[in-house]
Amino acid sequence: MTGTVYKSTGSWYTVKTLNGKFYECRIKGRFRLEGIKSTNPIAVGDIVQFQLETKNNTETGVINRIEERKNYIVRKSVNLSKQTHIIASNIDLVFLLVTIDNPPTFTPFIDRFLVTAEAYSIKTILLFNKLDAYNEETLLEVKYLKSIYRQIGYECIGISATTGKNIDKVKALMVGKVSMFAGHSGVGKSTLVNAIEPSLDLKTKTISQQHMQGQHTTTFAEMFDLSFDAKIIDTPGIKGFGVVDMEREEVGDYFPEFFALKQDCKFNNCLHLKEPKCAIKKALEEDKISYSRYRSYIQILEGEDEHYRTDNWDN
Ligand code: GDP
Ligand code: ZN
Repeated sequence: MTGTVYKSTGSWYTVKTLNGKFYECRIKGRFRLEGIKSTNPIAVGDIVQFQLETKNNTETGVINRIEERKNYIVRKSVNLSKQTHIIASNIDLVFLLVTIDNPPTFTPFIDRFLVTAEAYSIKTILLFNKLDAYNEETLLEVKYLKSIYRQIGYECIGISATTGKNIDKVKALMVGKVSMFAGHSGVGKSTLVNAIEPSLDLKTKTISQQHMQGQHTTTFAEMFDLSFDAKIIDTPGIKGFGVVDMEREEVGDYFPEFFALKQDCKFNNCLHLKEPKCAIKKALEEDKISYSRYRSYIQILEGEDEHYRTDNWDN
């Protein structure tokens, strides 16, 4: 049988089959997916093959295969082993919630997030939340940021999770897809999810997870079916994507507007710093590339953006 992993407790996996039935499954023996060394062989979002087993009148499944993942996000364990933990896989869409204040979201954080999502091949849409609470000046800031990110090709939507503004647009984008919501603590992720699907009250979950955070308990992602042919992956207690280990030469490839121009740089290994005839520096001078994006790029290259590491996004 084929199914999708909705939940994992470490040893048992809740798998939903194509005809909508849930089975508790486990893995027998050693099981490794080629190429990835992680503490968990199977993650939420994985598509697996399993066989049914009946013991004491209960039917459970034994997973014997994972289909190749389209993408996956990881978290590096903070404990000794520094092992990689796969948080979730096969994610179609991440909505990054941004607020101008309460709390402020700064561009280095947005850019680091986008670079990581690009590296994981996960499409990101920016949601500027709390529009209802902004004054003229803050709204101008939203307009400015939207223009920067739209120009690069990121879809941007101004929303209000509390008044419901543009929530229908967000829902329309989610249809037929597996989505995740990200952003600093307090930007309105739970409020938005509740506005999208009132029956799914993730808030209680967030609160109960907070007790566990101090105890180094592993918290697990979970997939939920919504009422309108959409799925979300909730990642309680998980602070964000782990930072991808990138070579310096690679960073520019995850800034789409840099990537588009880099073949015009004189040197094909150009880091767009002090090299002569650099197409990115030229575009920057001509205002075709935003200065804040270039600054974020330098910060990532120089490793000066620790403060904005996306695995700290929820602090
Ligand atoms: P989370 O930490 O990202 O899940 O954020 P919450 O959903 O808990 O929201 C944090 C605070 O922001 C709560 O007090 C919400 O009521 C408030 N909030 C969320 N969305 C909006 C919004 O669109 N407008 C306003 N004015 N407040 C909002
Ligand atoms: Zn260059």
